[in-house]
Amino acid sequence: MEFGFTEEQEKLRKEIREFFMNELPEDYEPGFNNMMGEEVQDWWIKFKEKAIKKGYYVPGWPKEYGGSGFTEIEQSILDEEQGRFGVTWPDFLGLHLVGPSLMMFGTEEQKKRWVPPIARGETVCFEAFTEPDAGSDEANIGCRAEEDGNDFVFNGQKLFISGWYEPTWLFTLARTRDIVPKHRGLSLFLLPADLPGISYRPLSTMGGGRQNYVFFDNVRVPKDNLLGELHRGFYHAMQVFEFERRMTGDAAGGKRLLQELVQFCKETTSGGKPLMENPEIRKTLAKLAMEIEVQRLAGWYSAWRFSERERVGPAPYELSNYYAKKYGASHAKAMLDILGLYGQLATGSKWAALAGRIERMWKVTRSLHAGGTFEVIKIVLARRGLGLPRIPGNMMKAIGEAVMKKV
Ligand SMILES: Cc1cc2nc3c(=O)[nH]c(=O)nc-3n(C[C@H](O)[C@H](O)[C@H](O)COP(=O)(O)OP(=O)(O)OC[C@H]3O[C@@H](n4cnc5c(N)ncnc54)[C@H](O)[C@@H]3O)c2cc1C
Repeated sequence: MEFGFTEEQEKLRKEIREFFMNELPEDYEPGFNNMMGEEVQDWWIKFKEKAIKKGYYVPGWPKEYGGSGFTEIEQSILDEEQGRFGVTWPDFLGLHLVGPSLMMFGTEEQKKRWVPPIARGETVCFEAFTEPDAGSDEANIGCRAEEDGNDFVFNGQKLFISGWYEPTWLFTLARTRDIVPKHRGLSLFLLPADLPGISYRPLSTMGGGRQNYVFFDNVRVPKDNLLGELHRGFYHAMQVFEFERRMTGDAAGGKRLLQELVQFCKETTSGGKPLMENPEIRKTLAKLAMEIEVQRLAGWYSAWRFSERERVGPAPYELSNYYAKKYGASHAKAMLDILGLYGQLATGSKWAALAGRIERMWKVTRSLHAGGTFEVIKIVLARRGLGLPRIPGNMMKAIGEAVMKKV
């Protein structure tokens, strides 16, 4: 079997790579766009405008909505190059979740009104799903949206909602009726982020990003902001999560870091010898290189599944997410061990090894929760990928009781 890219696809990759090499400053630090002051953000906005002009912002969307008509594979090549350079757009969620969801569940009027501003880079969307009692257990959402005349009235709270920039839109799930089973009582909404009664409180996490609390206090949301069918929000959300699964960028970022680490090991000595001559280090580097290749292939497997699909729906796409989480965490630790004490210094210190990039990666990868936890991904893989049955409720109860007895 032979698999690879066509000549046209390779040409496209070259063009995209040249664009990033020409436009990104030499001292550009991957992922730092989200974390620094206004000056960096201004630069970032100009860079985004250039990407839009070039057709690299929402290339996979239909041309009528501002896209360039890229195929899934071409889009994944762009994602891979963006991952390689560590480029994450401020409206990452608008591009990857909200826009595609609008095109899938939105009415014609909603699509015309809301999709073009996202494609023009004028928006920032937050995905406000998680609540104190509803993370992995999405069906347990308690934030309420009660119908009242032409509006829904929102009351409740969300937390761990990622976002560094001021949001334009909140993409959110709320309870629109009380029913058993609970997941049949949720609805999906896209609502203006500045409606009266919505407030935000920042929540700093270890990885240096910014998450937020979001509070709804009698927020009147026009009925036009319901996305998809009333009470079908849980099913829509499950489809939305499919959009998060096409991941070719993570392995490319990991590969680039590994290349930098290999160079560091060639240039740095310990006990009079280059680190590269240490057999343990050589073994570790070889292991990392093999695992990154596995992760890369899993990413491309998902991309290929996307390109072949006839409709969005359950499929074992989780494989790329699984490897991204598994190797992200273990590779950061292994790389930090090789760098030694200077590896623990943060970006900004003149003594920081590899400009503190591995230290940052280590901190970011301590949290495996964003986008679904490791355990939940394994459950999805078991059920959807391997077709294994659910554990019956009474067996779960027996396991819980046995665990409690042991404690
Ligand atoms: C950096 C960061 C960014 C985030 N950004 C966003 C965002 O933008 N928008 C948003 O809506 N949310 C966001 N989240 C929240 C994230 O989606 C949730 O943390 C995640 O869904 C897990 O939910 P939870 O925190 O309630 O944990 P829980 O669901 O309570 O899980 C706790 C632990 O129990 C395990 N567990 C749960 N259920 C099972 C099961 N059935 N079997 C076995 N083990 C299980 C989990 O794996 C985990 O280890 C973010 C979180 C982080 C850390």
